[in-house]
Amino acid sequence: MASGGWSTASQIRILRVPRVLRASAVTVMIRPILRYGASPLHEPALPVDAVTPDVQRLIDDMIETMYAAPGVGLAAPQIGVPLRIFVVDVSVGRDPAGLIVMVNPEFIERDGTQFEEEGCLSVPGFNATVMRPTRVVVKGLDRAGAEQLREGTALLARAFQHEMDHLDGTLFVDRLRGIKRDLIVRRIKKLSRAGKW
Ligand SMILES: [Zn+2]
Repeated sequence: MASGGWSTASQIRILRVPRVLRASAVTVMIRPILRYGASPLHEPALPVDAVTPDVQRLIDDMIETMYAAPGVGLAAPQIGVPLRIFVVDVSVGRDPAGLIVMVNPEFIERDGTQFEEEGCLSVPGFNATVMRPTRVVVKGLDRAGAEQLREGTALLARAFQHEMDHLDGTLFVDRLRGIKRDLIVRRIKKLSRAGKW
């Protein structure tokens, strides 16, 4: 399965576009979303050293890709970039304040348990009930590289935990037990063999 090829693509763009023109000349791109089985989805991602213009362009692509899908969250490994970044918007663009960008996120607090149906852009067509915390507090950097603290309850807590899992190479399928998990994995393998995954 093709990886996103982010670093190569952006390096080429930077080489070709003069620095002064870069901001206006570089367009935001919708990236292909990797699916269950692609190796970046199953490996832990690396911390971001600094929120550089390159990282900000990646974030902008992630936001665009999430809204285009549409989804409530997207983690960098889902577009083949093994960095600890995710974007979340449980309003899916309806509320301008709903967009949250998290670089190098860490949980500060996690309380309670909720059981709700959950899906993933990397596992299209499948849903399952997953146990998640009801409330979390996440610390990380925003798109500007500034420290931020965000509290999430209900769906936002679920989204934070789901995206954080992506950064650790875990998909919601991995959180299921026994028959439920086997059933989804078997169906994906079947689709994969048929060239439909
Ligand atoms: Zn996901």
